[in-house]
Amino acid sequence: MADRLYDVVVIGAGPSGTTAARNLAKKGIKVAILDKTKFPRKKVCGGGLVYRALSLVPRTALHAVERFCYNVLLSFVKSHLTFQIWREYPIISMVSRKRFDVALLEMAINAGCSFVAGAEVKNVTKVNGLFHIECGKGSFRAPFLIAADGATSRTSRLLGVPDERVLIPAVEARIDVRKPEAIEEQARFDFDIFHGGYGWVFPKSGHYSVGVLTCHRKSSILSALKSYVTYLGFDWKRVRSVQGAFIPIRPRKKYCCHDGLFFVGDSLGWVDPIVAEGLTGALTSGELVARAISKADLAKDKAEKLYRQALGRMLWKDYPWSAFLAKVVYKRPRLRDLCFRLYGQEIADAVTDVMSGKWSHKWLILWPFNYLKAIGLLPCRIKHLRITRCCLVL
Ligand SMILES: Cc1cc2nc3c(=O)[nH]c(=O)nc-3n(C[C@H](O)[C@H](O)[C@H](O)COP(=O)(O)OP(=O)(O)OC[C@H]3O[C@@H](n4cnc5c(N)ncnc54)[C@H](O)[C@@H]3O)c2cc1C
Repeated sequence: MADRLYDVVVIGAGPSGTTAARNLAKKGIKVAILDKTKFPRKKVCGGGLVYRALSLVPRTALHAVERFCYNVLLSFVKSHLTFQIWREYPIISMVSRKRFDVALLEMAINAGCSFVAGAEVKNVTKVNGLFHIECGKGSFRAPFLIAADGATSRTSRLLGVPDERVLIPAVEARIDVRKPEAIEEQARFDFDIFHGGYGWVFPKSGHYSVGVLTCHRKSSILSALKSYVTYLGFDWKRVRSVQGAFIPIRPRKKYCCHDGLFFVGDSLGWVDPIVAEGLTGALTSGELVARAISKADLAKDKAEKLYRQALGRMLWKDYPWSAFLAKVVYKRPRLRDLCFRLYGQEIADAVTDVMSGKWSHKWLILWPFNYLKAIGLLPCRIKHLRITRCCLVL
């Protein structure tokens, strides 16, 4: 098969790759997307789009949403703490990744990208400033290469790029429900059923997506899922399609891009380290890389500089704070439980606001009013205190 020359080759047709490709093609840049699978394909994922991710999804892809959840239940099982969060907007929306990824891919194709399915990339070399990409469907060349090939990122290994990411295991399964109308409308997150992680239940159209993740790589993820299913009161026999995968919880920093190679999504490692939601990072990094390459008029150095700057603003400004909170949640359970025992509802509400894109983790930790609010010194309370003091003086 002939060797094909493009401006940009994107490896991986998940949300990060198709978002990057679509935005580049819209600017008239010649892009090819290669994916090892044929679409629609199964992707191991809970398919929960938090509100900040939902707001990044183009309207045309919104038909992939199966259910909008306005209610979330958060529980810490060992300390018997439960919090209910409700919002007027969907806190988390449930997508079928099969349909969602196809919708985004179709948008990229309609924008002018070439898509090659069943093209597993087996080798990547760089000769005279051009990437040579070899896959089952021939070879491709381009001065720019976007690695959007997920958590395992073969591209990174093929090119010998040091991996700064930390990967954790997660497993997802489905529990079919005979009467879809009986499915509860709320999403739930349960901590402490097993060590160092949490379990989730997401209501889909005819089933629940149930899954667990753990920061403890040594613990058995399958037995964690079994304990969680038992805790929920489901019979293990009802559990179908159990599949595991890795989630990166620390991004690449120094090696996020270099000389025409750019990492996005899971391959970059942009995933929230507290709840491990990666769709916001996938969609955002896809947009940012496209903006950087097109704004730089395909000049490599300038594109790299712009991408690093954008990641600095959008990812790195907040990451140390979210990583700090993740450490408290998973490695300091006593401190976490104390905080939740004292101000649990306030913290749950504030975290919901962060996941909705209203605020950042940095704001959550540094803004003094949050502490005042948590301990009850709201303006009305202050007024109340003054009145009480006046009464006492009188
Ligand atoms: C169990 C589990 C549950 C999750 N639940 C959620 C959730 O509820 N909400 C959320 O926001 N995030 C969730 N995530 C994370 C989310 O799935 C990822 O962050 C997101 O899919 C990243 O998108 P991506 O485009 O970077 O990569 P992916 O969606 O992984 O896409 C990568 C693509 O690259 C292709 N590819 C890989 N290697 C090659 C190769 N050598 N050649 C060609 N193609 C290749 C693959 O076929 C794939 O299509 C979950 C992850 C797991 C594991």
